Amino acid sequence: MTDWQQRLRDAAQQRTAQVAQRTVRTVQRRDGARVWVDGRELIDFAGNDYLGLASDPRLARALRDAAAHGVGASASHLVSGHHAAHAALEQALARWLDAPRALLLGSGYAGNLAVLQGLLGRADHCIQDRLNHASLIDGARLAACTLHRYPHADAAAAERQLAHGSGAGLRLLASDGVFSMDGDVAPLAALAAACARHDALFYVDEAHALGVLGSTGAGSVAAAGLSTSQVPLRLCTFGKALGCYGAALVGDGALIEHLQQSARPYIYTTALPPALAEVAHAAVLLAQNADAERARLQALIAHLRSGAAQLGMALMPSSTPIQPLLIGDNARTVAIADALRAHGFWVGAIRPPTVPPGQARLRITLSAAHSTADIDALLDALLALAGGTDHAH
Ligand SMILES: *Cc1c(COP(=O)(O)O)cnc(C)c1O
Repeated sequence: MTDWQQRLRDAAQQRTAQVAQRTVRTVQRRDGARVWVDGRELIDFAGNDYLGLASDPRLARALRDAAAHGVGASASHLVSGHHAAHAALEQALARWLDAPRALLLGSGYAGNLAVLQGLLGRADHCIQDRLNHASLIDGARLAACTLHRYPHADAAAAERQLAHGSGAGLRLLASDGVFSMDGDVAPLAALAAACARHDALFYVDEAHALGVLGSTGAGSVAAAGLSTSQVPLRLCTFGKALGCYGAALVGDGALIEHLQQSARPYIYTTALPPALAEVAHAAVLLAQNADAERARLQALIAHLRSGAAQLGMALMPSSTPIQPLLIGDNARTVAIADALRAHGFWVGAIRPPTVPPGQARLRITLSAAHSTADIDALLDALLALAGGTDHAH
């Protein structure tokens, strides 16, 4: 056995021992909150399709129409791949978030790398919530800056780290707006005030908030009553509530210009297919006008939480469509998720390193495409499989 084969075998054995092995399941078809996997129909409580747009016929039609003009961009934005569809989408996003400019990226992952690599270097400091998305951590590594991680949602601790990092170099504080595995909202007003006191740049990742929070779905920053002057840069992703794929940075004009000129994950990659930009543009317009879906989502969230409380199931504190049930142990979490799937419900079994050790959980996500009957059925199954008040032990 060669060295690399030995390495792979050791890693696989360790994954098995820790019940950390993950499985890819193939979706044959999706229709709203229904998915067909291995020939069986499941109600999807695992995805991020918060407004039910991923299989919306209006977007499917937009994609068909856009495809009539071809598929690929043919080059990166700065060479010859920037199309009218990209420019129109950037303008629509900037208008939606009430910011001067937007810049398209291939994905949210690339967007977070672009911001931190494009703005920070060795002498600089990046201050981050401990539970930020992995792409923000990876961006700080790529920037080779000093990374400080403060206890989750602790604005006072964040401020101490901002003060500590003062003197040499830039300071950038990055936070998820809505935390992807917990569902809670960052203390954005307190963080913005701390950044203002310490002359730091505040960057918010809106991946799970865009389309969901704020009066037109403009995200967590808008919902907190903040604007580009307090939060000069935001990440929008199209793969969650917008039901598409791709991402954009939205914010201050000088920041966007600098990133366009210097961010490697923007420069050295082919532009998003223009057809996909047209679809994302259609999704932006639908999401902006989805007040009824947002109201429905809030009603479904309230229904799940009150139902769970009546059954003695303590969901983690969250007011967003991400409603995790903490289990703790990996094997037990996977066993419950497997049993739920056998009963027709798809719920994510989230384990370390995605969450801290000992905090494996069922990540239940809601969509405007769910019905209250879907939620009642899930609650019945959860009660039978995970039990009531003692589920966490
Ligand atoms: C999903 C996600 C990303 C990555 O976005 P993609 O477009 O899927 O690459 C970034 N940040 C957060 C918080 C996310 O949840």
